[in-house]
Amino acid sequence: MRICVIGGGLVGLATTLQLRREFPGAELTLLEKEPDFGRHQSTHNSGVLHAGLYYKPGSVKARMAVHGIRLMTEFCRSHGIAHEICGKLVVAVDETEVARLKTLLERGTQNGLKGLRWLNRDQLREIEPHAAGIAAVQVPEEGIVDYTAVVQAMAADNRAGGATLLTGARVTAIRREGPQGWVVASTAGEVRADFIVNCAGLHCDRVAELAGEQRSTRIVPFRGEYYQLKASSSGLVKHLIYPVPDPTFPFLGVHFTRLIHGGVEAGPNAILATSREGYRKTNLNLADLADALTFGGLWKFMRRHKAMCWEEVVRSFSKRRFCASLQKLVPEITEADLEPGGAGVRAQAMTPAGELVQDFELVERPDALHVLNAPSPAATASLAIGEEIASRVRRLARK
Ligand SMILES: Cc1cc2nc3c(=O)[nH]c(=O)nc-3n(C[C@H](O)[C@H](O)[C@H](O)COP(=O)(O)OP(=O)(O)OC[C@H]3O[C@@H](n4cnc5c(N)ncnc54)[C@H](O)[C@@H]3O)c2cc1C
Repeated sequence: MRICVIGGGLVGLATTLQLRREFPGAELTLLEKEPDFGRHQSTHNSGVLHAGLYYKPGSVKARMAVHGIRLMTEFCRSHGIAHEICGKLVVAVDETEVARLKTLLERGTQNGLKGLRWLNRDQLREIEPHAAGIAAVQVPEEGIVDYTAVVQAMAADNRAGGATLLTGARVTAIRREGPQGWVVASTAGEVRADFIVNCAGLHCDRVAELAGEQRSTRIVPFRGEYYQLKASSSGLVKHLIYPVPDPTFPFLGVHFTRLIHGGVEAGPNAILATSREGYRKTNLNLADLADALTFGGLWKFMRRHKAMCWEEVVRSFSKRRFCASLQKLVPEITEADLEPGGAGVRAQAMTPAGELVQDFELVERPDALHVLNAPSPAATASLAIGEEIASRVRRLARK
């Protein structure tokens, strides 16, 4: 069996690891276009280990998140990777949010999270003395991690296990060879495979199209921008402080995250990116922009959520507005406490009807599997996603 994995982010690397377990004798090749692994979403994120509080019970996301955090923390423990289960607080600031927070608590309980606790205002202040809010849910299983170290460890394990990992290998064409095989052409040469697994993140829809799929759902890139708290203010946040998210969107809302190597980050917002790999406001990729603007789904989305889209644009350019969002959670924060941080771009699938795909989407074909939506918490859940993919490849390969 020859299997070719396209994309060397956390999902592709974890999938290759789990494929090795499922198919010990297989010829495994991973193709990554960048000079190193995990250069995109996998290392441009909040660095949080999510336990599965938010996701609809029974969804692939809920299943993968709950199992995934256990696999990921075990991986970190066994590889000596810096991580800390510091716990998270989701904070409600008014009565409407309290009602939504109750729903989240029920969801988390149904999803099997352990130790969830409802906190009143005083209990919240004991844990986070500077947090606003009239109620909160404490999620003790969640934490923070060094995903860059996870990427490196997964790449090393894959190589030690005999997989061939190629960098500088951008997949440019995929064609059939015979009734069952594939030839995957890349900038590092051709790979012949019986099965392909597409884990190309921000480009997964394009890679799927190379393999003959229709691009009905489209990746729409949403940039998330961060500020960092100045060292003198980082004492205002002890753990992770999250708002109650708007259930209409898969984004969690700007939050405070302690970083594993020190410091506190605030963000990310969610604004349409003018380049799929554009980490700065000024990055413009005409092909990416044209791709987004010629997609009817995006226009329907923007029409339906006009106010939210406009607010995100304003907040992206106005530090004052960004700070105001943060002050809902920690009122003492001022603009002077914030300095510009990094950014990440989310690969978010959108349907032609303009709906954001909420669940993970794994599309099966007899000799291919395409990961067409793997947004947050896919970093945490990568090993569980990889395990799921390996067992699906086993089932498909038997047919
Ligand atoms: C701002 C932000 C915050 C987030 N916060 C969190 C968090 O705190 N916790 C969490 O669990 N998740 C978080 N996420 C989500 C998480 O980071 C992603 O879901 C996860 O990293 C997806 O991994 P991936 O391997 O699918 O994608 P990627 O990491 O983007 O990897 C895809 C890879 O495919 C390669 N590729 C693309 N096209 C080709 C091609 N043609 N040929 C070869 N290679 C190709 C790319 O170069 C890339 O390396 C966040 C995401 C963002 C953007």
